[in-house]
Amino acid sequence: MSLLVVGSVALDTVQTPFGKRDEMLGGSAVYCALAACHFTDVKLVGVVGDDFHNDATELLRQRNIDLSGLETRPGKTFRWSGVYADDMNDRDTLYTALNVFEAFNPTIPEDARTAEYVFLGNISPKLQLNVLEQMGKPVFVAMDTMNFWIDSARDELLEVLSKVNAVIINDAEAKQLSGSTNVVQAARNIQQTGCSTVLIKKGEHGCFQVCGEECFIAPAYPLEKVLDPTGAGDTFAGGFMGHLARARGTDSRTLREAVVYGSVMASFVVEQFGVDNLLQLTEAMIRQRYDEFRRLVSF
Ligand code: AMP
Repeated sequence: MSLLVVGSVALDTVQTPFGKRDEMLGGSAVYCALAACHFTDVKLVGVVGDDFHNDATELLRQRNIDLSGLETRPGKTFRWSGVYADDMNDRDTLYTALNVFEAFNPTIPEDARTAEYVFLGNISPKLQLNVLEQMGKPVFVAMDTMNFWIDSARDELLEVLSKVNAVIINDAEAKQLSGSTNVVQAARNIQQTGCSTVLIKKGEHGCFQVCGEECFIAPAYPLEKVLDPTGAGDTFAGGFMGHLARARGTDSRTLREAVVYGSVMASFVVEQFGVDNLLQLTEAMIRQRYDEFRRLVSF
């Protein structure tokens, strides 16, 4: 069973109260793929420039991530930089240099078109539709988006929502998309688009999922120290989609488990800068934190 991940591949410069890192490997597709590869086979579709380091490509390959859909174009790789305030909930983007990502037009390799699980990272809704048109009949498609697309490409975004099974967004985006400041109402409104599962991430306050009629909540793992929150959302999506692909299911119980695996993976990634912690995780560490989650909410 395999998961197709489409999104950005980036070099991130990040500053938090705990330090600064320059040009780290990042991007939505990278965080998602490095989380999901602990659960299932992953195929990554994205674009990099001819300045992208070979050791980064090698690092992804070593984790069995299929890079046949990673194009190299003349020019520079997408770069993003952010700085976090003391409480880590606030972040300012210092710059976004799209570079080769600006002309990204995902071509899905022939053998990836039959992938049964698909994650559409934060790219333009037009490109997300383009990816869906190239796919066979996936079992489950989840998507991400951001405030920019909610404002500037609303109609196309609504079309994507009508064609996917799940949307994974943060609470501010859910409110912006739905027009409701109540998170439950926001999720219900978004379901009206045709997307039956809505996951609303609330940062350190956990995640709220509606799936058909059912609601589920999962806390965020209580961490004493967060070094770098970058990529937590995409890592969550990787754990969530990875578990669905591994479990070969999309029933309500498996979706609940997937939310907890998403939360587990997100809790690991923020403990170190960039993708560092995702690279040294073992199955036993993931399982142990999953079991701790169960104990945390048992009463
Ligand atoms: P998150 O912390 O979940 O918002 O994800 C941060 C990751 O998203 C970083 O690795 C960035 O490289 C990537 N990113 C930031 N802005 C964009 C954008 N406009 N399009 C695609 N990816 C982006």
